Amino acid sequence: MRSNQPLFRLLTLCLFVFTLAACQSETPTPLVPAPEFEIEVGTDPHSFAEYEKVSIEHLSMDLSVNMTAQRLEGHVIYRLDRHEPGWQRLILDTRDLDIQDVTVLRPDGSYMGVSWRLGESQGHLGQPLVIVLPAGIEQVRVDYASKPEAFGLQWLNGEQTSSGKPFMFSQSQPHYARTWVPLQDTPAVRYTFDANIQAPSDLMVVMGADGNPEAINETGVYAFNMPQPIPSYLMAIAVGELKFESIGPRSGVYAEPDWIERAANEFAVLEEMIEIGEDLYGPYRWGRYDLLVLPPSFPFGGMENPRLSFLTPTIIAGDGSLLALVAHELAHSWSGNLVTNAAWRDLWLNEGFTVYFEARIMEALYGKKVRDMLAKLAWDGLVETVAQADEADRQLVRDLSERDPEEAFMRVPYDMGRFFLDWLEVRFGREALDAFLRAYFDEFAFESIDTETFRAYAIENLFERYPNQATIEEMDAWLYTPGLPEFAIAPESDAFEQVDAQASQWLAGELALSELPADEWSVHEWRHFLTGLNGQMDLVRMEAMDQQFELTQSQNVEIVFLWLLLSIEAQYPPGIDRLEEFLLEVGRNKFTQPLYAALADTDWGREWAIAVYEQAKSGYHPLTRQASERALDLSSDIIGPN
Ligand SMILES: [Zn+2]
Repeated sequence: MRSNQPLFRLLTLCLFVFTLAACQSETPTPLVPAPEFEIEVGTDPHSFAEYEKVSIEHLSMDLSVNMTAQRLEGHVIYRLDRHEPGWQRLILDTRDLDIQDVTVLRPDGSYMGVSWRLGESQGHLGQPLVIVLPAGIEQVRVDYASKPEAFGLQWLNGEQTSSGKPFMFSQSQPHYARTWVPLQDTPAVRYTFDANIQAPSDLMVVMGADGNPEAINETGVYAFNMPQPIPSYLMAIAVGELKFESIGPRSGVYAEPDWIERAANEFAVLEEMIEIGEDLYGPYRWGRYDLLVLPPSFPFGGMENPRLSFLTPTIIAGDGSLLALVAHELAHSWSGNLVTNAAWRDLWLNEGFTVYFEARIMEALYGKKVRDMLAKLAWDGLVETVAQADEADRQLVRDLSERDPEEAFMRVPYDMGRFFLDWLEVRFGREALDAFLRAYFDEFAFESIDTETFRAYAIENLFERYPNQATIEEMDAWLYTPGLPEFAIAPESDAFEQVDAQASQWLAGELALSELPADEWSVHEWRHFLTGLNGQMDLVRMEAMDQQFELTQSQNVEIVFLWLLLSIEAQYPPGIDRLEEFLLEVGRNKFTQPLYAALADTDWGREWAIAVYEQAKSGYHPLTRQASERALDLSSDIIGPN
């Protein structure tokens, strides 16, 4: 069974055929007039690129970072792979870019102007940049600048960072690379790149590429190279006052000076994690693996940029208790970065595999008890999400052709994808599944594939190779039928069952708080315990718990988050004070969005939350602003540049 074919939206663009600004000393090659034509937004419904005709093979970026004007300024040269030799145009995705000039490189090495045009703006998809491509031309140059409102970049001023110096970082997934580089912005296209970046001399530039420095370079000029082909959503850059600390022979961490020591201690286990990953699914193929700790406004837990994962500082708990997120980003070096979803409808190929792989790394590091607890937490969250989601969002493969690909990012492709792989593990056995996965990563390394390619490969190499373990109909139920299949296997955790029993006794007045074995609880047991208190707390219980466990002052963000939700429910004053501090400091969407939503649900909290939001928003990433405004039901979805 297949999901619905994407509905193609047609967009008519007129193309003007006048040659612009040809170099004066040269005789321009006459251009063939390009007729009016129609562009189908549809091969990948979230990109204008006609990549079957011509695709980017390599790009060379030369950009300077203007921290004051909040712009990247310079040019990009594209080397093209022409799949249809006579094809006469190149369409790039852009959004909010200031395109200044387009030229092409002739075989004799000289540049020549060509006609180009920006098409009509299509909301979050941006504007197609249509470039006439004369016969025989294989290199195109675009001179441009990004704008301060670029959705894929966050610019922080010195007051918003711990170093006191300005900071900038990118977030290109799913389709925001086009807000800082004109690109064929689809995961279906992979290319290599090199980059020369000029920044203020007191700041460091790092990229998801080879060539990251160990110290600030006083010339302000940094050179990078990415020899493995990547999709555009993995393009990554950050600029700030950074320090580097080595962890292992091929791993280390970057952070602002205030964070660097804590970060290096927290992530000491990184090299061991890489080795576990290699033991499971084959060699790490990207050279180095470093981490970059961003300011607390980073909207996500992490982003798997190749060679350099970006991380929120909120996972630095002081005791390594939140490292599942690092295991997750590392696992993407195989699932996602090496074998990539060809479009966002197939996101589960990236995320479901990665959550499964993350669980395997955590099990290898900390044992089965931890894996079971994490699985149970994920399962409980998934069951709730599936119950609340629209029917069309309750299955792994979802039709997103008419939607913002941002909507792909919900629990279903992550956790349902993971439980699909857990189910394969139970049915086929761990040994067979591991051998299959390892071969799968080899087979499709550095390729972008869709669900149907995976499905055909799984039928041949798993279902037919080990007959009578599971049926193709069962696999299709996971992929294409709404809801968790009846035969899905719910995880169990003995540790959580004990916590549940103790929590019930406390709530029934049969056990004192001091008798709870909370000293022995891991963060996972705490999360389960606090989640279970939903709807049962009043001020007396909140005060008693706070006195016993000092939860308002907890340094563990997962615990604080759940405690703040309970504080909203009970309107507990010390918790509300901490909540205000928290919302002013942290921009991680996983926390801010539900906190604002919970406040908006109370009769007292919405006005208060809007006042806090107004104060906090200049430090939030555009994505966090968008999600917070939706949670608070603020009328405008238009996001301003600050
Ligand atoms: Zn992920």
